[in-house]
Amino acid sequence: SKVRIYTLAKDLGVENARMLEILDGLGVSYKSVSSTIEEDTVELIKQILAEEQAEGTSAEATAEPTVQAPAEQATPEQPAAAPVPQAKAAPVTDAQGDGGTSEVPHRAPVVTIMGHVDHGKTSLLDYIRKTKVAAKEAGGITQHVGAFEAKTSKGKIVFIDTPGHEAFTTIRARGANVADIAIIVIAADDSLMPQTREAIAHAQAAKVPMIVAINKVDLPQADPERVKTDLTQLNLVPEEYGGDLVVVPVSARTGEGVEDLLEYISLTAELEDLRADPRAAFGGVVIEGKVDKQAGVLATVMVQEGTLHVGDFLVVGENYGKIKAMTDSAGARIKEAGPSTPVQILGFSEVPSSGEKVQSAKNEHAAREVVAGRVDTRRDAENARVQRRLTLEEMMGPLGSVRTVNLILRADTQGSVEAIQGILARKESDDVKINVMLAGIGAPTEGDVLLASTAEATILCFSVTPSGGVKKVADSKGVDIKSFRIIYELIDEVDRLIKGNVEPVF
Ligand code: GDP
Repeated sequence: SKVRIYTLAKDLGVENARMLEILDGLGVSYKSVSSTIEEDTVELIKQILAEEQAEGTSAEATAEPTVQAPAEQATPEQPAAAPVPQAKAAPVTDAQGDGGTSEVPHRAPVVTIMGHVDHGKTSLLDYIRKTKVAAKEAGGITQHVGAFEAKTSKGKIVFIDTPGHEAFTTIRARGANVADIAIIVIAADDSLMPQTREAIAHAQAAKVPMIVAINKVDLPQADPERVKTDLTQLNLVPEEYGGDLVVVPVSARTGEGVEDLLEYISLTAELEDLRADPRAAFGGVVIEGKVDKQAGVLATVMVQEGTLHVGDFLVVGENYGKIKAMTDSAGARIKEAGPSTPVQILGFSEVPSSGEKVQSAKNEHAAREVVAGRVDTRRDAENARVQRRLTLEEMMGPLGSVRTVNLILRADTQGSVEAIQGILARKESDDVKINVMLAGIGAPTEGDVLLASTAEATILCFSVTPSGGVKKVADSKGVDIKSFRIIYELIDEVDRLIKGNVEPVF
């Protein structure tokens, strides 16, 4: 029978991270530590661990932050016993690491809520904010800064306060990742809807673990079982049905199930083993920026690594600023902020865009130099933008490897969507995998374009056409949207994509 990765890790007394490392080594694919693995694999892992333990001195084992690592030269009784690891453990990097990654403290999870319109994303966020953010901190005012910190019995959870996958994807499209966990809200009286599928596709593309919250279970017409069955059709199998997917019934109206949801978030976070070093160099991402009539430019930044202090110099894109003042998400003035803390910063001269990465600089001079460097790099890139021809290898991927063609499919009816998907499935071969990231009814959206741009996917439309606005975004992102009215032409295009000989468009 199958075993969940974290269960096995616990049973065998090894860290989740180590378990994943072994699986990587074996070439076994998994989605997260809550994925299940086959019995054969379990046996292999046990063997590997047993061998490691028996040898104890293998080079492999010394690379690990096992109990042996801290032995160092300091302990006199050890050297003779373990001459090999001594030599291997000598480098300074190892000595510094001394407990490896386990020295880096845990950080709170950052959660995003996505789902179909009217399924209750905003209501759920409101309920959590109302019940889990201490009122006295907020000073009676609930201001929207793009994120908030909920205090739960299991610790802090940070919620991104802009529901929907647009915010999520905008941030991802700029190369940043903010969310650790995605909550997919599905109304129990409505089940899976187009934007539910989109939200799932976005979370999957970002490889962010998902938790499904079946909302509105207070309604008499609520049918959570139907939601679960519908999810199975997307290959998302709820735990009760033997799968990996955590599904929690909730009501944003009555609050039923919300505690459970928070608990599952904490559990998932624990399994993900989220860590960040507050002593590392600062790194963060802009959640949102705005101009306040009184205060001026305000930017909410998520601290991802290191610690921010009032007075620090920050660089965002081609701008820099000095932190004049900082408030936490509840509006309280703070002097410093560590990992997984959303902070509102006063001190930028330009409004930064969400998703932009933020760095710190030692002083104003250093900040200016970073900015000047970026301006130069951009100019060089602009000058070099004479279309370079791709080599065959760049187009096809390394020889002998399996190539994946990422597609987003949009069609006029569910019937066409299914028909096209059926044909696409038959086009797969040992060398080429066709990954339909999202298949939906209706014209492609801006969200589709952002998803396509992060995944290098092509958008294929059948009997639907993108709006001018969407086309413009696609052009600016270099995303191909191809529209067809005749199914054979669409198939021909897929064949071209499979062969990799995409005709250059001039
Ligand atoms: P969003 O578009 O996903 O952000 O959805 P909203 O939070 O705006 O909710 C849409 C509608 O559903 C509103 O009228 C809410 O009052 C209602 N609603 C949200 N959650 C629940 C719930 O748990 N139970 C019931 N009965 N109604 C809900």
